[in-house]
Amino acid sequence: MEEDRKPAAQEFEYKAEMKQLLHLIVHSLYTHPEVFMRELISNASDALNKVRFMQVTNTPVHQPDAELRISIDINEEKHRIVVEDSGVGMTRDDLIERIGTVASSGTLEFLRGVKEGEQKLDGSQLIGQFGVGFYSVFMVTDEVTIETRHADPDAKGLRWKSRGEGTFTIEEIEKKDRGTRIYFNLKEDVKDLASDWHIKEIIKKYSNFVDFPIYVGKDKVNSVTALWQRKKEEISKEELDEFYKFVANDFREPMDHLHLHIEGRVNFSALIFVPSEAPMGYFDPREEKSLHLYVNRVFIQDDCKELVPEYLRFIKGVVDTEDLPLNVSREVTQSSPVTAKMREIITNRMLGMLEDWTKSDPDRYTDFFRKFGNYLKLGLTTEFSNRERLTELLRFETSKTEPGKYTSLKEYVSAMDEDQKEIYYLTGESRSVVEKNPNLEYFRKNNIEVLFLTDPVDLFTVTSLPDFDGKSIVSIEKADIDIVKDAKKDEKEEEALKGREAKDILARFKEILGDRVEDVVESKRLVDSVATLVVGKEGLDPQMERMMKMMDKNYSGAKKLLEVNLGHPLVRNLARINAANHEDPTLHEAVEQIYEGALLIEDNLENPMDFVRRTMEFMQQATRE
Ligand code: ADP
Ligand code: MG
Repeated sequence: MEEDRKPAAQEFEYKAEMKQLLHLIVHSLYTHPEVFMRELISNASDALNKVRFMQVTNTPVHQPDAELRISIDINEEKHRIVVEDSGVGMTRDDLIERIGTVASSGTLEFLRGVKEGEQKLDGSQLIGQFGVGFYSVFMVTDEVTIETRHADPDAKGLRWKSRGEGTFTIEEIEKKDRGTRIYFNLKEDVKDLASDWHIKEIIKKYSNFVDFPIYVGKDKVNSVTALWQRKKEEISKEELDEFYKFVANDFREPMDHLHLHIEGRVNFSALIFVPSEAPMGYFDPREEKSLHLYVNRVFIQDDCKELVPEYLRFIKGVVDTEDLPLNVSREVTQSSPVTAKMREIITNRMLGMLEDWTKSDPDRYTDFFRKFGNYLKLGLTTEFSNRERLTELLRFETSKTEPGKYTSLKEYVSAMDEDQKEIYYLTGESRSVVEKNPNLEYFRKNNIEVLFLTDPVDLFTVTSLPDFDGKSIVSIEKADIDIVKDAKKDEKEEEALKGREAKDILARFKEILGDRVEDVVESKRLVDSVATLVVGKEGLDPQMERMMKMMDKNYSGAKKLLEVNLGHPLVRNLARINAANHEDPTLHEAVEQIYEGALLIEDNLENPMDFVRRTMEFMQQATRE
């Protein structure tokens, strides 16, 4: 009959970036073709979790009594693999939107990077991290068919088919059972994978902890006990590593893990990992998934934000509790005292683990801090709890550490001389820039340690930390720092200008520079340089000022003070000229040059033309016959 005829298969075209991605997968990613199995099982497991969640929240489903399972059938002669699950299935929109599109915007940026040759390509990396999971199947086959029926009682069966070359088709079919069936024939070069034995090995390796039974033919292959419920001694490192890769969508092994079984006011188990690398730059950490929430082993939420403070969002894993209702909604998890208590315990244990590392394995902590320190630093700008512990976990490079080595505030303070009253810091784009800052000269000479803040976040962190151990934390670029030691009396010092001579030359500087500077004063901190610009008592740190300018083009910072080194031979020469002829043009040009040189060092010289012209003129004079 007319109505019974199914509409013909409809053809769709992949978006351009999807084509690129497919091309890469098919042609570049051969390293571990067997991971396709892990990806298909992981998707099946997600789909089963979703249908289980519908059932515990009393949403009607097709075939409510169907066993929640994954079945894999292998035809060794035809090299054919069928992966079937009784999960939530897919609607037509799912097939178009979820299967036919690149999941994350990070994928596209990554792809561009690959194309421009700046990323080195590692197949497993692409697959794990970029949500191309399903498409890994095109590493082992030329054509895939998906037959699926969504759990909604009114849903119809659908068949999706693609050769992974730019188009896919969707048609309606008869499908009795809920869930998804995926099948394909293996390509010639990987056809050996089509054996029960081989597939079982792959599943044991990658998917042993999956929470639903996996059958290969008639045999159940995995152990199906939630890993986090097992005793610590009974879990092998391999199982932990694979579990981590599964929950974190990572391809590396974790740095370390915490396994908690908490009984008392709240009851929960948790398996929490610290990754070995931070997510790549273009992933917004707020979009990264952190801890999955389970209630009585039923998966509830894939990123329960309330379980971790923002500064620990790099951790990955699962938390499983008996103390929340199964049909718990996001609103309830947000406001529940159970969640708050779990968060407190998790935070406490995580910080404890990091503190342990600082003592028992400082190298590991250094490595950790290099990768994840920014999270902790940001934490200090937003969090009010655990401030002391976080502060002690901070690490800095300083004028006394080797590049790449760190010191803690505690170590800094305990190494301070008795007469030093404050903790000093200097900001700048990088260590090499900071090291050349003339404001550092005095501190170098007097062997006073200065923290180097080279990360934009550092500044916010330090400004939100008014003091440490009763000592205020101050920038050495500020005019009012309390310099305790007098620069050692050496020859230069003795020859420094004093009295009237000193007053006159500083006044002449000020006359020439006029409104461009707040004032011109004698410097106590310069040793080898002629002059430096410093910030007045009310001014912002120069680095902060630069950031303000970046955010607001019209922002003009506070005026600065020019500090002049009265012991410098050049300044003495200028004083001599000044005494002889107040209006001497060379004196005028030299003061301009000194001022612009100080601006240049700060990266604040807007127009270098005059600076360069004067340099040439002075050189010309110096090379005269
Ligand atoms: P990810 O799993 O990271 O979302 P995948 O490429 O592995 O990315 O899968 C894309 C999407 O396709 C999934 O999010 C899911 O919506 C859908 N999907 C894939 N396999 C299945 C399945 N067996 N059952 C239901 N949905 C599936
Ligand atoms: Mg997946």
